[in-house]
Amino acid sequence: MAEINPYLSNLSKKYLFPLIEERLHDLLLKEPNADVIRLGVGDIALPLCQSIVEGIKQAADEMGTNPHGYGPCNGFSILRERIAKLEYTSFGISSDEIFISDGINADVCAARELFARNQKIGIIDPAYPLYLDLTRSIDNSEITLIPLLEENGFLPIPPATGLNLVYLCSPHNPTGTAMTRENLSLWVNWALKHQAILFFDAAYQAFITDNDIPKTIYEIEGAKKVAIEFRSFSKSAGFTGLRLGYCIVPFELQASGFPLNPLWQKRQDIKTNGVSYISQMAGIAALSEKGLQETKEQVALYKEEGFRIKAALQAAGFTCYGGVNAPYIWVKIEGLSSWDVFDLFLYKHHILSIPGVGFGKFGEGFIRLSSFVTKDTVDKFILRIPQIKESLCELI
Ligand code: PLP
Repeated sequence: MAEINPYLSNLSKKYLFPLIEERLHDLLLKEPNADVIRLGVGDIALPLCQSIVEGIKQAADEMGTNPHGYGPCNGFSILRERIAKLEYTSFGISSDEIFISDGINADVCAARELFARNQKIGIIDPAYPLYLDLTRSIDNSEITLIPLLEENGFLPIPPATGLNLVYLCSPHNPTGTAMTRENLSLWVNWALKHQAILFFDAAYQAFITDNDIPKTIYEIEGAKKVAIEFRSFSKSAGFTGLRLGYCIVPFELQASGFPLNPLWQKRQDIKTNGVSYISQMAGIAALSEKGLQETKEQVALYKEEGFRIKAALQAAGFTCYGGVNAPYIWVKIEGLSSWDVFDLFLYKHHILSIPGVGFGKFGEGFIRLSSFVTKDTVDKFILRIPQIKESLCELI
């Protein structure tokens, strides 16, 4: 008899995002004409940039005449070399340390496979739910939650004792804050001391405009010895539907004296046949001069909407964080649970948010709003703020 994975089947709750979709569906069943303002899941709202669309069309035309079959499992060298040149050469990282994938989710799961079962794992809280659910779905690893607290500016503080693997994310989903150079250095030094590996999720690095915030963990001395960095085209270039990402596994990185770059290569050889030609060509187009310009403008538009959401809420007296180097605004609402606030926003005001506690227990008391929206959506949201304020005042 086949036995199922008990860790997966025992995961108690549903994954966060389907839960949110369920409640939205429930509202739309009751009120099919509700004009819902979606500041929730954090998916893109703007169309692909023109240069990317052209790249896709060109790749599709090529496939129609001269088809490309299986490509290299790590991605085309032209794409890896372009990424290296734009982002990593100045930190001593070459294209052979870059592995192309269909996005961060796949890479984060892949990274876990490199290490033994039942590790001591640190996970920031609140966090993108993948880290915790993935960890719990595999084995009995001992999990240490690393709280991101308002009083620490939502920066993670390394624990006094060692751990084997730690998930970090900056700029951070959901708080919208970003790790400073000093904070990231603390972690790199801690990892060097404890021979721990850092999984550094940089999905939102394109939103960093502050010079004090490192865009890659490899800006920090020693990081190549302790960190795998994950990057994605999802939020920087609107590829959530196309799928393209990459991770950096430096040659210097080792665990138990074993180099991880060749181990990752071995895993790739066995488990992947690479990423679609069309997605990779779209990625190359996104990294062309024109593509970089266009995607930068698009990110700036999202950021502008984030500033407007945050400014309008602050003007109405809400305490808000994030929204500067990240596309998320973390709104503090005391006196109600974050699910109650979510329900109030959704069922009464037709605004889709995400309850902070959905990202972990230390997210209680907050909701997350996404700035992956258009100007019209934010205009409508701003008009609803006085009513939201009124209903909160009645309840609290
Ligand atoms: N990491 C974080 C922190 C995210 O917020 C998301 C998506 O929202 C992802 C990873 C997923 O990235 P990808 O689309 O590349 O799988």
